[in-house]
Amino acid sequence: MATKIKGIAASEGYAIGRAVILREEVVPEGISYIEAGEEAAELTRFDSAVASARGELEALLDRMKADGREKESEIFEAHLMLLEDEELIGAAQERIRSQRYKAEAAMNEAGEEVADMLAALDDEYLRERAADVRDVSRRVIRKLGNRSESDGLQASSAAANEKSILFAFDLTPSDTAQLDPSVIGGFVTAAGGRTSHSAIIARSVGIPAIVGAGEGALHIENGQLIIVDGAAGLVLVDPKDEELARYQALQQQAAGKRALLDQYRGQPSVSADGHQVELVANIGSVQDARQAQELGAEGVGLFRTEFLYMGRPDLPTEEEQFKAYKEAAEAFGPGSPIVIRTMDIGGDKELPSLQLEKEDNPFLGYRAIRICLDRPDLFKTQLRAVLRASAHGNLKIMFPMIATLGEWRQATALLEQAKQELRSENIAFNEQIEAGIMIEIPAAAQMADRFAREVDFFSIGTNDLVQYTMAADRMNPKLGYLSDPLHPPVLRLIDRVIRAAHKENKWVGMCGEMAGTPVALPILLGMGLDEFSMSASAVLPARALLSRLHRSKLASLSEAVLDLDDAEAVRSYVEKHVPELKD
Ligand code: PEP
Ligand code: MG
Repeated sequence: MATKIKGIAASEGYAIGRAVILREEVVPEGISYIEAGEEAAELTRFDSAVASARGELEALLDRMKADGREKESEIFEAHLMLLEDEELIGAAQERIRSQRYKAEAAMNEAGEEVADMLAALDDEYLRERAADVRDVSRRVIRKLGNRSESDGLQASSAAANEKSILFAFDLTPSDTAQLDPSVIGGFVTAAGGRTSHSAIIARSVGIPAIVGAGEGALHIENGQLIIVDGAAGLVLVDPKDEELARYQALQQQAAGKRALLDQYRGQPSVSADGHQVELVANIGSVQDARQAQELGAEGVGLFRTEFLYMGRPDLPTEEEQFKAYKEAAEAFGPGSPIVIRTMDIGGDKELPSLQLEKEDNPFLGYRAIRICLDRPDLFKTQLRAVLRASAHGNLKIMFPMIATLGEWRQATALLEQAKQELRSENIAFNEQIEAGIMIEIPAAAQMADRFAREVDFFSIGTNDLVQYTMAADRMNPKLGYLSDPLHPPVLRLIDRVIRAAHKENKWVGMCGEMAGTPVALPILLGMGLDEFSMSASAVLPARALLSRLHRSKLASLSEAVLDLDDAEAVRSYVEKHVPELKD
């Protein structure tokens, strides 16, 4: 048997190739100083290295844009902004000016300080941004040494005459964006998480990747035969013949599956008996919107706008938000629904710029709409931005964490105020914009009949609805058996919400993870759910499954599962009665 190394599955797919080890670039160790009086000259040397790094990034950005690599372009735009950042560049200059640091040491220490600060945060997304800061500071350090773009990568890939599997401690986003999939079959890093930019890029380029594999991954020798199983997060070193044959077969199967799924791109989402639903995506940025469109989503069922607020010291302006919402709509084109959820800060998502107090039970605390109603200034900026963007696409607005009718009414009153302001300023927006709520608190699910008279739509947030119904923290891995949306108490609430909405002729969507889960799809289809919002990669498989299901046969299944004992019983029941799940 091959030696196996386990890591985090960052990008699906199977790769077979020879190991190429990318050695860490040398970064300055310790601090070296300049002589008194040399500060001005050193600052000039530093500034010109920053300018030259900027030039290099701009050229890279132009190339990416010309190749239509929008996703990567946005990352490098963020890197360009970091080159203007006071906390990073200003802090390095300050070290040269007042502490007589040599420029390399100043950049290194300032970069490490910001990166360490980000790496210590609870929020996974922000933690991963530490890699971007290091990437930028190393680019400047390279420029100080008159070196240019990352060397090892090209050298190693040029040397390899068969597909290479790259091993590195960590890959910067710049490194990853430059990987040529015709040469690099896959990569493995010792550090990193699923939401690091390298992982995001790997998924968008379609390179199988494993991150967070630990130091063990660095003890591989150049040229060893490697299999990367990007689905299982597994690296096989020196595989035996039978393992190799098994993975070659898996590679072929995966290629066949991809080709089969491709036929569902751009098609309507219809069941075998002609019932049409909407399959849309959950996104957190404009780049996600573009990727979701490419992956076959018909629009957006949940724009988690809080990501626009995170990873920065200040709050996003109305103009910045307007641009993001407008561009997300433009990624899909006219008419496609784009549901913008107002920011859901709190819970597991912290925001340094709001300086929220630490709470014992953040998921039961000051969060989402609760903050927005308490801070109408903040809320109105966002509402104005969404309304303005509604002149450019089919935007809808959605309020998260609504528990009472009073909250909903307060939120719509503020929306009305924002509309009034725009009218008096002669700014265009869609007067008919739909407004709805997330159903993610059992209190709202119980009162769905009352809400249904007032809202334009519901979207069921099962991630929170499950944790509040089952009293099981969604972040606690020990409670997996409770955190399951197939538990009948959750299914009963979902059923109730769908019925209540339809009674008032309102549409109902779902944007919790459940919506993209194959075993849940027949149940939800049988209950009459109108819109399914999921991670973009789940859209084509869901459309393929839907095309095999007969909705008319599923109503009785959806009723039957409400009377079963628990999630396990529901799962077995559905698997037994829906053979199409196995196709
Ligand atoms: C949910 O709770 O199901 C949901 C979609 O919102 P979030 O995961 O952002 O809390
Ligand atoms: Mg939620």
